[in-house]
Amino acid sequence: MKYSNSQIDLYSNKCPLAWHYQRHIGLRKRGIGSINDHHLAFGKAWHKAMEVLYLSPDYSLRLASEAFIAAYPAQLDPSDHAKTEATGLEALAAYIARYRDEDSSMHVLCVETLEQDADDSDMVIDLVYEDLRYPGSVIIVDHKTVGGRNKYLSADYWEPWADASVVSRYIAQTRQKFGRCDGLVINAVSFGYRTKATKDKKTKKLLPIGSWQRFGRQAFNRDNAQIHLDRQSDLAWSAQMQISELFDMYPQRKSQCRWCTYREICTAGQEWPRSEENILASYYIVCDADIDGTRDRCVLETGHEGEHLKQHLPEPELVIVEDYDDELEGEVE
Ligand code: SF4
Ligand SMILES: [Zn+2]
Repeated sequence: MKYSNSQIDLYSNKCPLAWHYQRHIGLRKRGIGSINDHHLAFGKAWHKAMEVLYLSPDYSLRLASEAFIAAYPAQLDPSDHAKTEATGLEALAAYIARYRDEDSSMHVLCVETLEQDADDSDMVIDLVYEDLRYPGSVIIVDHKTVGGRNKYLSADYWEPWADASVVSRYIAQTRQKFGRCDGLVINAVSFGYRTKATKDKKTKKLLPIGSWQRFGRQAFNRDNAQIHLDRQSDLAWSAQMQISELFDMYPQRKSQCRWCTYREICTAGQEWPRSEENILASYYIVCDADIDGTRDRCVLETGHEGEHLKQHLPEPELVIVEDYDDELEGEVE
């Protein structure tokens, strides 16, 4: 059997113990739900705007802006000045001005399609297009809204994509569907907020207090041998995960603690279920409904009313709280 892509990523790239806390026990930190929701809602609204933009006949700022506003009706985290309705609209206008020419050779083949890969794992493909300068080409785009430690879109942000297995999965899926795929473009926009005026190291200009955005695109490709290897390694990780479950053993991967939402538990030497009472003071448990057999849990709190909710968008990074303030950081180029 194979686990879902997000579970394999959590286990293999982050931490087996974090996977156990998140998937088996269903622990989520209290209080950051709304912060996560905020980043998720903002990201979704940006995706909606991109979807409308690439479907609109004339690369329409008006239609994209309307879609963004409709998808982002309320600010969930009032303390986040980087991601607001106003900064979203500002970013859209800047995006369109910047990419209108470059994107004019794009012939859109499809947007926002939910795909099932060879192992029945869900994936959403944001945009597939043909570059008219290269007739017959098939290129995937994945839109990303970036904040926190990655907001400068520096090499640290791009580097992991070079060997991320998710890139192989997207490309493999698209080759199956279209008969070819010439690569995947990560189309990133980052949102920051300067809390004090800062001198730009390169231009020596004074950058004012306020919100800023940065854009970046990079293309990645995989040959069939790499795709095969990545799939093999997904299967190997899945086997490893099964062994973990069989023996109920979930090793800590301490290199990942800095960014982990379970750090409070691990640094205090607490362990589930021995320290259940202490842990539940700061964490709650989500509903364990197994939705369509993927073993991905419903994201609502145990005992919720109404329908179960499964998150199709990638989950927010295993979070980060201390990282979302831009504090005294200046531009670091
Ligand atoms: S705090 Fe560290 S060891 Fe604990 S779950 Fe998170 S990454 Fe794993
Ligand atoms: Zn539920």
